[in-house]
Amino acid sequence: MNGQPSRRCLRARRQVSGASAQLLARDSSVPKVTLVLDDNDLFYPILLSGAPPLCVRRRLPFPRAWDSLISPSGPPTRAGPPYFSWKAASMRLKDKVALVTGASSGIGAAVAARFAAEGAHVAVNYRPGSPKDRDAAEAAVASFGTRGIAVEADVSSREMVEAMVARVVAELGRIDVAVNNAGIEIKRGFLETTDEEWNRVLGVNLYGSFAVSQAAAREMVKQGGGGRLIYMSSVHEDIPFPGYTSYCASKGAIRMMMRNLCIELAPHGITVNNIAPGAIATPINQSVLDDPVAFKNAVTEIPLGRFGKPEEVASVAVFLASDEAAYVTGSTYYVDGGLTQQVTLY
Ligand code: NDP
Repeated sequence: MNGQPSRRCLRARRQVSGASAQLLARDSSVPKVTLVLDDNDLFYPILLSGAPPLCVRRRLPFPRAWDSLISPSGPPTRAGPPYFSWKAASMRLKDKVALVTGASSGIGAAVAARFAAEGAHVAVNYRPGSPKDRDAAEAAVASFGTRGIAVEADVSSREMVEAMVARVVAELGRIDVAVNNAGIEIKRGFLETTDEEWNRVLGVNLYGSFAVSQAAAREMVKQGGGGRLIYMSSVHEDIPFPGYTSYCASKGAIRMMMRNLCIELAPHGITVNNIAPGAIATPINQSVLDDPVAFKNAVTEIPLGRFGKPEEVASVAVFLASDEAAYVTGSTYYVDGGLTQQVTLY
């Protein structure tokens, strides 16, 4: 696409000028699509099975979907609508095979959708026993224009992780990128935290990242040609978060794992990096999004004055997975609106 809208995109743009928020594509293979847009005047590819992205540009005042998404009274943000800057989507991951864990929701869903928009074949992992998320994962995969599969696995189970990676390789042919995104948090004071709670958080966040990235890296080494490991850590790999010691311990440990692995795996051409999101509008933060006081307090701490969007994290994941990041390894990329640089407000 090389920075210019395709002919198909230009046709779509003409069609939506005016007061309609619906796109009626002339191409009969494309069904009628209702759009959910924001006020940022960006291009939005609509991913349709077997079809290249269709793009439209907003030209009218429209309900501010993403404002409501990031406001305390907004709707839950399970996966959210597909949302990209068209200008950013330029097939930077064409024909790469990526596994994204915890990809039926929030940041993982945005990463999977954006990877597919960039031409990758994506395995969308979802947690067993979560039928709603299985549906979301399958719906997401069905919307990809590229090949995709929905894969069930609890990342804290070695057996399921190995079966998942084996299935990705069997069905998609190889594995080039593993995004270790699945994560949970439990709010509990240190003195009250139980062994079960500690082990659950460390089991998903740390052991899960270890097991998935190890299984993926073994495949990358076997197939040759390098690869990319990306961990979704957190600003709390670095800054304290009282009441969430197990979460901080898991993310801090991921930081050291990533730094070690960048050295161990370099001879195999595998790069290893962290993305450290700040406050992103996803279900993990639903209690804050739903509480006006907590929301206001949280936003006050963020220099850019708002929650981030899952897609803003996905953009960094695309960069790290792309050829443009070939010489980037052992780094943490903060996507936090300046949160980690904030000074105490008096
Ligand atoms: P979500 O709760 O929306 O996403 C977490 C995903 O992980 C869900 O799809 C969840 O599935 C899945 N998951 C949980 N346990 C398992 C498991 N055992 N096996 C497989 N999948 C599992 O939250 P986010 O999108 O916000 O979080 C994504 C990552 O980003 C996490 O690692 C989180 O720590 C990190 N992060 C998020 C921040 C934020 O502000 N949102 C800030 C910093 C870091 P299910 O819903 O079925 O349980």
